[in-house]
Amino acid sequence: MGIAGKKELCSGCRLCEEVCPVGCISLEKDREGFLYPGTGEACINCGLCERKCPVLAPPLKYLADEGYMAFSNDKSLRLKASSGGIFGEIAKWVIQNGGVVFGAEFDQNLKLVWAAATNGDELEGFYKSKYIQCDMKGFYNEVKVRLEENRPVLVSGTPCDIAALRNYLGKDYDNLILLDFVCHGVPSQDFFDKCMAYYKDFFGKKVLKYSFRAKQKRASTPKIFEIEYTKNGKTKKKTDLYMKDPFYFAFQKRISLRPSCYECEFAETKRVSDITMGDFHTIEKYRGDINRMDGVSMVLLNTEKGKDVFSKIKGGLSIQRFDVGVLADNNECLKGAAKRPMGRDEFFDILEKDGIGALIKRKLKPNRVALVYYSLPKFVRKILKKFVLGE
Ligand SMILES: Cc1cc2nc3c(=O)[nH]c(=O)nc-3n(C[C@H](O)[C@H](O)[C@H](O)COP(=O)(O)OP(=O)(O)OC[C@H]3O[C@@H](n4cnc5c(N)ncnc54)[C@H](O)[C@@H]3O)c2cc1C
Repeated sequence: MGIAGKKELCSGCRLCEEVCPVGCISLEKDREGFLYPGTGEACINCGLCERKCPVLAPPLKYLADEGYMAFSNDKSLRLKASSGGIFGEIAKWVIQNGGVVFGAEFDQNLKLVWAAATNGDELEGFYKSKYIQCDMKGFYNEVKVRLEENRPVLVSGTPCDIAALRNYLGKDYDNLILLDFVCHGVPSQDFFDKCMAYYKDFFGKKVLKYSFRAKQKRASTPKIFEIEYTKNGKTKKKTDLYMKDPFYFAFQKRISLRPSCYECEFAETKRVSDITMGDFHTIEKYRGDINRMDGVSMVLLNTEKGKDVFSKIKGGLSIQRFDVGVLADNNECLKGAAKRPMGRDEFFDILEKDGIGALIKRKLKPNRVALVYYSLPKFVRKILKKFVLGE
């Protein structure tokens, strides 16, 4: 099988496993915790796995030609979203129209899985970015089943998973809306599990809920996490800066990403979805009246269907048109894949041999200057940024 043994190519979408006519492909975890396919003896060399693979045979990409800054006017929706709540606005509209929404949520054991929602309550687990690779087992066929019920189907996911879905379906469906996000990559579930086990073993905290991008009043950065945990029979919450959590810190350093993410061919303004959403962290350069900490998105409309859906929901949004090139200048992952940091292999060597505690000491120690910086009031940080960093 073409992709086997080429870790920098395989995105782990599981499509090869799903389409194999003799069921001879199974996925195995490597030492970094990422799943890779392997073929069994029953392989009949039909080549379908290669012809469907979204990396070896990517679907046609659409050139985004309409872009916006956007955020939801619904404050509670925006609060529970990572960014401007664009996903939530589209999802609500699909559900109001009798549709189904596919997204990624944590299960009760903090494993990231896909799920389908047909009402507002079922959408709750989808809100917010979860910076982990979602397990796509069984996903493609379920989307197809729902599409054939002839109801609107919204699928939201990473660009590589959306590309895999398109290859699986092999044709366009009028009732399918594809939504992807600007993505700089995914770490493995296995690494996340190890970090959660560290909370338990080292601090006696059993983590029940984990939230990336917790929005806080007077936040100094959008990268704040919140955990809910039990300790000594009591349930508590803790909110802190991303660099105080080994998993989130490693993600921000881009050191724990799947190897294929550093080679991603979907990190550009040609997209595989109808609509692409991303963060507009630099909005304050253009709009001094907007607080980026509340969550502000950029939206790319890639197809006529994407434009049509956006026209239906834009009444509930605050928007401003931006040139797609300007949006790309403000979002590095629209211009290329994340750079593979030096020392990535050593990072996983330490994890394998000495565990999370050693990894924190040697690779993930919060930088003291950064900790002081993030503790300063906003106006002081603004002055420092301007005069020291020249931003
Ligand atoms: C792994 C990852 C990396 C990202 N990297 C960037 C980046 O480099 N630059 C940038 O601008 N934006 C990035 N984003 C996207 C951004 O953080 C927001 O998620 C996006 O703009 C949507 O925000 P929202 O407020 O509209 O929706 P939210 O309410 O935050 O909705 C989140 C949506 O993302 C889906 N989702 C969450 N986690 C996953 C996952 N692991 N796999 C598949 N689907 C998931 C949910 O199902 C839901 O549909 C990333 C997101 C993820 C999950």
